[in-house]
Amino acid sequence: AVEIRDLRKSYSGRSVLDELSLDVRVGEVVALLGPSGSGKSTLLRCINRLETWDSGVIEVLGRRIGTRADGRPRSPRAIANERASVGVGMVFQNFNLFGHLTARENIAGPLRWVQGLSVSEANRRANELLDRVGLSHRADALPRHMSGGQQQRVAIARALAPNPAVLLLDEPTSALDPELVSEVLEVIRRLAVEDGLTMVISTHQIGFARDVADRAVFLADGAIVEQGAADEMLVRPKNPRTAQFLQIME
Ligand code: ATP
Ligand code: MG
Repeated sequence: AVEIRDLRKSYSGRSVLDELSLDVRVGEVVALLGPSGSGKSTLLRCINRLETWDSGVIEVLGRRIGTRADGRPRSPRAIANERASVGVGMVFQNFNLFGHLTARENIAGPLRWVQGLSVSEANRRANELLDRVGLSHRADALPRHMSGGQQQRVAIARALAPNPAVLLLDEPTSALDPELVSEVLEVIRRLAVEDGLTMVISTHQIGFARDVADRAVFLADGAIVEQGAADEMLVRPKNPRTAQFLQIME
């Protein structure tokens, strides 16, 4: 579903992603682990073209994204169109909902503005998605009247609305109070297990990654240090840096 080859990115001369290559197969769930500053968010943001990169290629469903054939960056409008048509959805740590819109409007709005759906079609799809994340009863609530867990479930529903080929989740539970983490993880688990959605999730929830991810990828300093089957690598890591990281996270 996603192919990344030799991705390089630096911020003012400091390397953040260092010739990183990663393939995500259709239906695969990949957990991205790594210490703070290892490049997890930057990698996800590149896949969603919220960042530009210095060199390397990203393909989504076989289509090269982010750079024009001549290598020059695309316009913001072209990137927005590309994002909508290639099908990458993203969920952020801090939900990023539109604060002045209800839960339903947060989902239906972009379906109208970006996908061109009619009001009734967009609302129907929004209702369907709210049902899927267990929030039908909160459809008319504003984000500030919802719990963090509920807001994140709305954000997941919104990201799913255009039927993305791959869903990227950047630490989806790290802004939540501990008692709200499990309701969000349960929604993500269902998307993985029941719907077979392709996902890349950066997370510090090792137990969740072990249960739900097919593959774990451990990043440090913008490079992949170790990767493997999640239920194997997260129990018996081979690389000492992975082992040390997992020990700290226990
Ligand atoms: P965390 O677990 O804290 O979320 P991360 O693995 O997501 O960390 P990134 O946010 O991708 O790490 O950051 C990778 C490196 O890039 C860090 O050293 C960070 O300071 C740097 N960085 C990220 N965004 C910017 C920016 N806009 N300008 C300059 N440096 C940045
Ligand atoms: Mg991050």
